[in-house]
Amino acid sequence: MTDRLYTLDSKLLEFDATIVRVDQAGENSAVVLDRSAFYPTGGGQPFDQGTLNEHRVTDVQASDDGGEVLHILDGPVDWQPGIAVRGCVDGNRRRDHRQQHSGQHILTQAFSETSGRETTSFHMGQSTSTIDLDGLVDRGAMDAAERRANEIVFEDRAVHTHVVTPDELPRFPSLRQSFTGSSIRVIEVDGFDQSTCGGTHVQRTGEIGLIAVLGAERIKKTSRVEFVCGTRALDALHQAHDVSQQAARALTTSPDSVVQQLRRLQESLKSQQKRIKQLFGEVSDKLAADLRSEARSHGEGLAVVRVLEGLNRDEAQLLAAKLCQEPGLIALLGVQDGLEARLLFQRHAKLVSPAMGELMKRVLTRLEGRGGGSPTAAQGILANHEQLNAALETAFQELSS
Ligand SMILES: [Zn+2]
Repeated sequence: MTDRLYTLDSKLLEFDATIVRVDQAGENSAVVLDRSAFYPTGGGQPFDQGTLNEHRVTDVQASDDGGEVLHILDGPVDWQPGIAVRGCVDGNRRRDHRQQHSGQHILTQAFSETSGRETTSFHMGQSTSTIDLDGLVDRGAMDAAERRANEIVFEDRAVHTHVVTPDELPRFPSLRQSFTGSSIRVIEVDGFDQSTCGGTHVQRTGEIGLIAVLGAERIKKTSRVEFVCGTRALDALHQAHDVSQQAARALTTSPDSVVQQLRRLQESLKSQQKRIKQLFGEVSDKLAADLRSEARSHGEGLAVVRVLEGLNRDEAQLLAAKLCQEPGLIALLGVQDGLEARLLFQRHAKLVSPAMGELMKRVLTRLEGRGGGSPTAAQGILANHEQLNAALETAFQELSS
């Protein structure tokens, strides 16, 4: 059994211990000590980092039976059982974990108190943490729980750790969790919450700092609530502030008016797009007439063969439809829309052949493009713009042969 020093003193960061065993785990070493302040991953909380005699501890795990703490080091070490080592736990990471984990206890009880929702699991992530609740919560319920949780922080209540035997449990009438074993650890937020837990916690609620509920994701009939505490809440505030400042500068307005300004821009964009479409409708009659005048004979009729510069896909489609109102005409068009090089083949509705989809497939096979279509209209995409002219010429030769 490793004596877990953090269970009674979660602020202890430096300790002396004796080596019990060193196992080789592939390239790494797993070191077992008689006592340790390192927290191993468990209960939703990640492991502590730090050093053992200047060797970096990259992972900490509990053994399968839970009795031993395994300190994983990069590479081999020639440490023998019985020698002394000095352990140092990374204080910033420990403080962050104490803030998130203690914040979770308070938020869990705050949801229970304000909306009757109970926590079924907890996960501490790298940037944010989550609790799963046994029902749905809306923003109002989240605000109420968040307000209550922060009241408990601002009151700077004491957080007590009790290690007790099962027959002492009646002293803790509000304990929610089930428990096993002869020794049970109870974390008590004075006058507010009693939970059995093996993690690392603060000694007073004021150390947690702000508890911010960021939002909730619905999972069937339950909710996954995302939150940050302490330093992470400060980081989240700065990040949100930076984004709103940058957005305001880009829109040359104040942060308060960003959303209003974006809506105005969206409206303006929509009406401009509508106007462009309308104007193109007017211009396209003249364009179609010009293109028809340069139509080439393929033996059995006329074809317009042309790469259209400066038009997008929708405009090219409109133009193809307009061209093919002319009896007997076939349109073989190319267009560069964004990064896409696109082919559009279309024929007059009353022509019985050739099939545009078949023609497109024959052209694309030679150029390794993709696409297809119906007997009257087909579309294809080529790897690059330079292939458009060659593809149209191939299609025209196919028509002529
Ligand atoms: Zn806990």
